[in-house]
Amino acid sequence: MKIGFNEGCNRFCENHSVLEDLDLCEKYGFDYIDIQSECLDREIAAGKYTIDDLGAWFADPKHHLKMLSYNALIFFNMKQTQEEKDAVMAKLDQIIADCNKLGCKMIVVVPSKDMKERGLTPTRKEIREDAVAVLKEMVKKCEPHGIRLSLEFCGEPSMTINRFEDAYAIVEEVNSPLVGVTLDQYHFYAMGSGWDTLEKADGKKIFVWHLNGTEDMPCGAYYNNDEKRLWPGEPGDCLDHKRYADTLKKIGFEGDVCTMEVFRPDYYKLSSEENIKKAAEVTKAHVAKYWAD
Ligand code: ZN
Repeated sequence: MKIGFNEGCNRFCENHSVLEDLDLCEKYGFDYIDIQSECLDREIAAGKYTIDDLGAWFADPKHHLKMLSYNALIFFNMKQTQEEKDAVMAKLDQIIADCNKLGCKMIVVVPSKDMKERGLTPTRKEIREDAVAVLKEMVKKCEPHGIRLSLEFCGEPSMTINRFEDAYAIVEEVNSPLVGVTLDQYHFYAMGSGWDTLEKADGKKIFVWHLNGTEDMPCGAYYNNDEKRLWPGEPGDCLDHKRYADTLKKIGFEGDVCTMEVFRPDYYKLSSEENIKKAAEVTKAHVAKYWAD
């Protein structure tokens, strides 16, 4: 099992820089990084580096670290006007161009939210049909580049796709080897996704595994959000890590990477180096404990 670092862990650490993260992830032994689009957009706009600088870093044969995913194309579904739909596809074109420069073969896609605020009250069926149609269009753009799409359901009430079973049903219906699910442990727990559905799933359709712990919060509570995430195994972490690992093994997860992703404000008080060092220790310990054989 290889180990990955997601910049959700350190995106707001002082003087954050994706380019620095690459060196630090390399230094502390990560195999992969998920680059957060919000960091890229913000830091490129500030002139810290260019996509080509990052591309040159990955192209350097001295470097072992690879980019696992572009994280993420956000709010891809339930667009109402042609203009909105075209904007999603234009964004995808830009992300594909960036991924080609970075040697990245996976784009995480995140569902839209806050339907009520837009005067919409879609059913699960309507959401599923829309997402399937959009993902089928997106695959056509990704296929020539060998880029895969990984749908990340998000465990909060306002999200249109907020449980594993809904994301998996969409991926099954799209039925493409290039479209899978991102299984984020926090998101799975936060809206009470069904272990029965995960246990019956085809592990090959899970492309990305986001590892984290979390405080124990009521399902769907408005204050149960990403900020409650913890390094796995920290005091107060309520997740059943053995069950996640054993289930992934049993269903044939082939992603071969365990990616740490927390968004805890306290951890942003660390320097980026302290944050990445700690993330590496915790991820290595997790893999040693649950994937030793
Ligand atoms: Zn995640």
